[in-house]
Amino acid sequence: RLGVWQTVTRSTSGWIVAVGAPIDESPVRSAQLGLLISSGIFLICGIALVVFISREVAKPFKKLEVQNQDLMELNAEVAAANEAKSRFLANMSHEMRTPMNAIIGLSELLLGEDEVRGEVRESLDKVHGAGVTLLNIVNDILDISKIESGKFELVPVIYDLPSFINDTVTLNIMHIAEKPIVFKLSIDENLPSRVLGDDLRIKQVCNNLLSNAFKYTREGLVEWRVSSERDGENVWMTFVVKDTGIGIKPEDMEKLFSNYSQVDTKSNRKIRGTGLGLVLARRMIEMMDGQIMVESEYGKGSTFTARFRQKFVTDVPIGREVAESLMSLRYSENQRDSRAKLVRVRIPYAKVLVVDDVQTNLDVARGMMKSYGMQVDCVMSGRQAVDLIRKAEVRYNAIFMDHMMPEMDGIEAARIIREEIGTDYAKNIPIIAMTANAIAGNEAMFLSKGFQAFISKPIDIMLLDAAIRYWIRDKELEKELVNQQVEVEGQKLLDLRSGQERRDGDDRRANKAAESVSGLDTQSGVERFGGDEGIYNEVLASYAQNTPPLLEKLRAVTVSSLAEYAITVHGLKGVSRSICAEDIGARAEALEHAAKANDFAFVEANNAALLQATEALIAQIGDFLSGDQVSGIRDQGSGIKTERRV
Ligand code: ADP
Repeated sequence: RLGVWQTVTRSTSGWIVAVGAPIDESPVRSAQLGLLISSGIFLICGIALVVFISREVAKPFKKLEVQNQDLMELNAEVAAANEAKSRFLANMSHEMRTPMNAIIGLSELLLGEDEVRGEVRESLDKVHGAGVTLLNIVNDILDISKIESGKFELVPVIYDLPSFINDTVTLNIMHIAEKPIVFKLSIDENLPSRVLGDDLRIKQVCNNLLSNAFKYTREGLVEWRVSSERDGENVWMTFVVKDTGIGIKPEDMEKLFSNYSQVDTKSNRKIRGTGLGLVLARRMIEMMDGQIMVESEYGKGSTFTARFRQKFVTDVPIGREVAESLMSLRYSENQRDSRAKLVRVRIPYAKVLVVDDVQTNLDVARGMMKSYGMQVDCVMSGRQAVDLIRKAEVRYNAIFMDHMMPEMDGIEAARIIREEIGTDYAKNIPIIAMTANAIAGNEAMFLSKGFQAFISKPIDIMLLDAAIRYWIRDKELEKELVNQQVEVEGQKLLDLRSGQERRDGDDRRANKAAESVSGLDTQSGVERFGGDEGIYNEVLASYAQNTPPLLEKLRAVTVSSLAEYAITVHGLKGVSRSICAEDIGARAEALEHAAKANDFAFVEANNAALLQATEALIAQIGDFLSGDQVSGIRDQGSGIKTERRV
C-alpha cells in the first residue's frame, strides 16, 4: 500500500493524519510505467543515434583505409618498377658497354699504329672521341640511377693532390682545341700533399666544371684555383673554376643543378650536352658534406665554386717548388697521344688466359696485349677456363675473366678454380675481372669473390697496363733473361718483317676471299682485326670449329626451351657479326627477337634456314682456310707467333 501522512499542526497531543491506499490504484504506479517506457524509447533512440554517428565518424577512416591500401599497392608497384628500372639499366649498361669496348678499344689500338695516317687517322680519332663521349653519357646515367636508388657509395682512398691536379688538367686541357683560350692554374703551396677521399668522384666533378668552362667559352681565360683549410680531422677543399665564356642568365641559375637540362638552348644550339653533369656534380659534392655555388654575368662569364670535405692525412704541404712546377707546366700534350705512346714492357715469358663469351672482346683484349709479346690464350666460357686450369698443361701467369657468361659465369668459374681444383697453382693464380657491368660489378664484390683486381670494360689501356705490370711482370725473371735479350730483339725484327710480308699478301688474298666465301665480308673482316689477316683467319677457324655445337643446340629447340634458345642464338648473332657474316647475324637477330617474344611459330619456320646458311658458311670457311695459299702463309708465321687460340 501507499501511505501519506502529516503531523497535525498545533496539536498538543501529537496527532498525525494518514491516508492509505492500495498501491495499484496510486498514480505513482502509472508514472513509474511512463518513466520505464520513455527511458526505453530514449535508450533505443540513443543506441540508434550512437550507431548512426559512429558510422558517420568512421566513414572518413574507412576511406583512409581504402586509400592506404591503394597506396600500399601503388608503393609496391613503384618499388617493382624501380627494381625493373635498375635491372634494365644494369642490362643496358652491359649491352652498351660491350660494343663500346670494341669501338674505343679497337680505335685506340689502331691510333697507336704509325701506319694509320691522314684522313683515316682523323676519322678514327673522331670515332674514338665519339666512343668516349658515349661512354661518359652511359656512365653518367648509371651514376644518376645509382644515386636515385640510394646505391651510390663513395670509396675513400688516400690520394696524392699534385698527381690529381696534374692528371685532371692534362685530361681537360685538350678541350681548348683551336680556341684562343689561356688556361691559368693557381695552386696554394700549403695544400696538403695527400688527403683521404674519393678521388675518382672528385675528378669527375672537376672534369665536369673544367670541360664546361672550356665548352662554353669561345675566347679569353679559364682559371682553376685550388686551395684548402685544415679543420681538425678534416680538410676543406675549395675548387674555383672561372671562365670568360657565354655566362648564364639569372633566371636559369636555379635550373642548372636540378633539371637535367641544358639552359639557354638558343645560344647553345651548337654545343652538345645532356645536362646531367652539374646535377651529378652537386649530388656528389653534397655527399662530401659540401656545396657547389655559381655566380655568373650573362655574356661575361661564370664562376663555379665547389667546397667539400676530405679527411686529413698529413701535414706535409706540397710546397712552393711542386706548386710552381705544376703552375708552369704547359699542358699541351694530347692525352690520347700520350696513351698511344705508352711504353709496354716486353714479357715474352708470360702466358695469360682471357675468358669472354663475346668474340670481339677477346680480340680487343688480345690486340691490347699483343705488344707485350706474351702468350695470350682465349676461351669463350667459364667452364673451358676451369678445365684448362684443372689440366694445368699450360701454367698461366694470370686469368682475365669476364663476369656475365651463359652457363657458368666468371664468379662461379673463379670459385671452382679457387675452391674445388685445390692445387697451389689454382689457388694462387691471379684472376682479374673484366666486366662491362658497371652496376652489378663493383671492385669490392669481385675482390671478395677470389679475384685480385678489376678492370671495367671498355678496357682502359692504362689500367690494363698497370694490371699487367703489377700481376704478371716478373722483374726477377727479367734479370735472368737479360742475356736472352738479343734473341728477343732478333725475334722482334723477324716479327716485323714477316708482318710486312703478311700484309703484302693481304689485299690479294682478301679479294680472293671475298669472291670465294659468300655471306662473309672478308675484306671488312680483315680490317676489323687491324688488317692482320693472321688473326682474322684464326677467328674464322675458331668460328668453323666452335659453331657446330651451337647449331646442335639450336636444332633441338622446343616451345619450353625458347629462353635457352634465345641465349644461344644471341651468341651466334654476336660471333657471326664479329667475323662479318652479316646475313647470318641478321637472321640470328630476328630469331633472337622472336624467341624473346615467345613466338615459337616464327622460330620453327625460320630456324632451319639459319642452320642451313650457317652450315654452308662453315663449310666454305673450311675450304677457304685449307686453301694452299693460306696455309703457306700460316706456316710462315707459325715460328714467330706469340699468341695462340685454344
Ligand atoms: P651539359 O654541359 O652536358 O649540357 P651540365 O649539367 O654540365 O650539362 O650543364 C648544364 C647546363 O649549364 C649546360 O647545358 C649549360 O647551358 C650551362 N652551363 C654549365 N657550365 C657553364 C659555363 N661554364 N658557362 C655557361 N653555361 C654553363
